[in-house]
Amino acid sequence: MSDRTTTPTSDRSTAAPNGLTWSADEMRRLGHAVIDQIVARAEGLRSGAPWRGASRSELEPLLRESCPEEPLDADAVLERAAREILPRAGRIDHPRFFAFVPSCPTWASMLGDMLATGYNIFQGTWLESAGPSQIELVVLDWFREWLDMPEGAGGLFTSGGSAANLIAVVAAREASGHPERATVYMSEQSHSSVERACRIAGFRPQQLRRIACDDAYRLDLEALDKAVRRDRSDGFTPVLVAANAGATNTGVVDPLPELAAWARAQEIWLHIDAAYGGFAALSRRGRTALKGIGEADSVTLDPHKWLFQPYETGCLMVRDPATLESAFRVFPEYLQDTDLGFEHVNFADRGLQLTRSFRALKVWMALQMLGRRAHAEAIGGAIELGDRAEAWVRAHPDFEVLSPASLGIVCFRWNPERCAPRDEPELEAMNRRIQESVVDDGVAMMSSTRLQGRYSLRLCLMNHSTSWPDVQATLDALAERGERFGRALD
Ligand SMILES: *Cc1c(COP(=O)(O)O)cnc(C)c1O
Repeated sequence: MSDRTTTPTSDRSTAAPNGLTWSADEMRRLGHAVIDQIVARAEGLRSGAPWRGASRSELEPLLRESCPEEPLDADAVLERAAREILPRAGRIDHPRFFAFVPSCPTWASMLGDMLATGYNIFQGTWLESAGPSQIELVVLDWFREWLDMPEGAGGLFTSGGSAANLIAVVAAREASGHPERATVYMSEQSHSSVERACRIAGFRPQQLRRIACDDAYRLDLEALDKAVRRDRSDGFTPVLVAANAGATNTGVVDPLPELAAWARAQEIWLHIDAAYGGFAALSRRGRTALKGIGEADSVTLDPHKWLFQPYETGCLMVRDPATLESAFRVFPEYLQDTDLGFEHVNFADRGLQLTRSFRALKVWMALQMLGRRAHAEAIGGAIELGDRAEAWVRAHPDFEVLSPASLGIVCFRWNPERCAPRDEPELEAMNRRIQESVVDDGVAMMSSTRLQGRYSLRLCLMNHSTSWPDVQATLDALAERGERFGRALD
């Protein structure tokens, strides 16, 4: 293919003006204003609250309006977005945002995102995006090495972990020959997106199996083996087991090496949902915890979680990329020019999107500009914060650990030793109240979960800008409220 970047046929001055373009000066001026706005937000982030919500009834009168027929003043629109809309949201990258799964994209990665948008890359076929497709291959190969997957393994970037899980479910089903009575196995702790993926892929509820976990919330291999044997003798064909590394609730990693050996012997596709924990493999501690991950048939990763990338950046890695292409490739006449031979990967053939943005660029830019080591150290540091938080909880007589720190997540609750045993509804109400107070007072954003039916506070520590004083201040605030509200109960 030759390089056809020369021979301009028209210049900018002859382009017909229309209502959708701005002069280069105006583009620059407004572009700089947006950058200034974003940087100012980042500078003020730590001093503000990590969360701000609003009810529908507050927002309707403020924001409901008909679509303007004629243009409004661009600066005024920008100012309004910054004042009325954008601040009324969680600040997921705030150093004391510990709810759900935090995300703190680096500026280098955001610049990559802006560049990809600005260059309007169509990352569906090699013909339309040669350089970008090569970079997607390169970055995926870095991931392959980090996970210890065999040479030749590859995959694609996706909108997120949910899309990656869906692609894996379909690929596994197609690879198995799409049997009539297929079954899928997941643990009680599996992410909701795995079940949703199965639903989208056409599995009925009676084809899904939720496998019990042990006391440490790890998938119970014996229970899995039993379920598979029973299903086989009942005429079902098991096609996929989805394991966690780590689970969103607890950060717990399933017994991966044992599962891999078992799945290979059973000839069942092993999918590891590592959307939460996969990039922990960059750190020494995480690498140990994730041992065996590279033996999976497919692995879901979420660079917009622990690789500090902007939304939407997910990824699916598979042992054999041909399994994706045979599951997803459909070749219509109007794309006949795009077949340049298999080494020129058309990423549209590996998943569900034809039009795809150039997600690999932001990852590539962040790793080029900041280096792998800084990413690894930030992840290792977050894992250590989890350990320190667990130690704090263990040392405090008013709190108990419900699930020990694993990959930055610790689950615990207020349940003071000094009192008579309280019943579960009272404990739940108190823990809810303590949590709400800490959130409402702007100390930290936290969310809760439920473990073996018990209400649990949950800290998720993965933000590279969180430091121990942030965690300690949050724990101290929880203890202070426990003390204060508890006194009223005694
Ligand atoms: C976040 C998460 C998902 C879903 O990923 P999205 O990027 O939100 O679509 C799936 N599985 C696990 C374990 C997760 O933590």
